[in-house]
Amino acid sequence: MSTETVDITIIGGGPTGLYGLFYAGMRGVSARIIDVLPELGGQLTALYPEKDVYDVAGFPRVLAKDLARDLVEQAMQFEADVCLEHRVLKLNPGDRHFDLMTDKGPKPTRSLVIAGGKGAFKSRTLSVDGWDKFWGKGITTHVKDPEFFRGKKVLIVGGGDSAFDWSWALRGIAHELTHIHRSDRFRAHERTVNQVESADKRGELNLLKFYSVEDVHGDDRVDRVTLVHTKTKETQILEVDEVLALIGFVPNIGPIAEWGLKLEGNAIQVDSRMQTNIAGVYAAGDIATYEGKLELISTGFGEAAIAVNNAVHYLDPSAKVAPGHSTSSKAFK
Ligand SMILES: Cc1cc2nc3c(=O)[nH]c(=O)nc-3n(C[C@H](O)[C@H](O)[C@H](O)COP(=O)(O)OP(=O)(O)OC[C@H]3O[C@@H](n4cnc5c(N)ncnc54)[C@H](O)[C@@H]3O)c2cc1C
Repeated sequence: MSTETVDITIIGGGPTGLYGLFYAGMRGVSARIIDVLPELGGQLTALYPEKDVYDVAGFPRVLAKDLARDLVEQAMQFEADVCLEHRVLKLNPGDRHFDLMTDKGPKPTRSLVIAGGKGAFKSRTLSVDGWDKFWGKGITTHVKDPEFFRGKKVLIVGGGDSAFDWSWALRGIAHELTHIHRSDRFRAHERTVNQVESADKRGELNLLKFYSVEDVHGDDRVDRVTLVHTKTKETQILEVDEVLALIGFVPNIGPIAEWGLKLEGNAIQVDSRMQTNIAGVYAAGDIATYEGKLELISTGFGEAAIAVNNAVHYLDPSAKVAPGHSTSSKAFK
């Protein structure tokens, strides 16, 4: 991590940012990538690492965490400044550069590609007393390593993809696995819901519909929760070691919204070069919008290539936008 001025800074270490970093390396410009999370991969590693992805070109099926690992390997063929656990805060235009400020200090740059996805992740919380007191002491909203849950009594809360993915993945790892949702309507993919319901019938886990958490109990850490039936209001006590609350996250691009960029909701408007309304500032991936936009990993890849190659041309107008073919690039010799 340095405070030198780099040619291109990429905000966001998701699939879009990582592929952009690769292109910056291939074009031979100095680059930095910044992410607020402790590891690279964006949504792939933070939200659904154990999920198979079927629509990435060239991969009939790839586990999200494996795709992230390979994107990191591809990007790290070239030297880059990697700043993890850095939250970007301010952007001030300087003389032929931008003063980009993070919570860990300044990161000056000559151009910028914003690949911040839905923004810095802020998980939704359960509205129960003790949430803050027990945060990290038996209550969590992320799975970093499934092994953390081995042999434990685990309660999963949620009806979306993350909740059902982890329910499926943690059966057999957790000693006792209970999965609750406040209704019988799930947002998760039907296939995963069916898998979890079958696992419930086989006794591999306990899926409870129409339940929510009313209270959490314990001394230093959570050891019991009160569950309430959302219709009958009957309560029951469940012994737990870990509560995994997977009830989504609040999309919030945070300070980026204050930089004078043209926004449409939580997304940044770009033209066909992925250029924003500020010269030298590009956006790509989920955070960028234009007519016909699709929020997909594959479109993020294409947008990252367009953004970075146009940034290279912005930095040095004599450099072509088109990168040439990687098959004949000197970068790989
Ligand atoms: C459950 C689920 C399943 C999915 N399945 C598929 C699928 O099958 N196929 C598909 O194509 N897509 C799928 N998607 C969508 C796909 O994951 C996204 O389109 C993709 O991750 C977008 O990549 P990105 O790099 O633009 O953003 P992200 O992956 O969101 O990465 C953005 C990064 O920017 C960082 N960041 C944001 N703001 C700041 C800040 N202020 N400071 C520092 N860092 C910041 C964030 O921490 C994050 O790591 C799925 C999404 C989910 C939730």
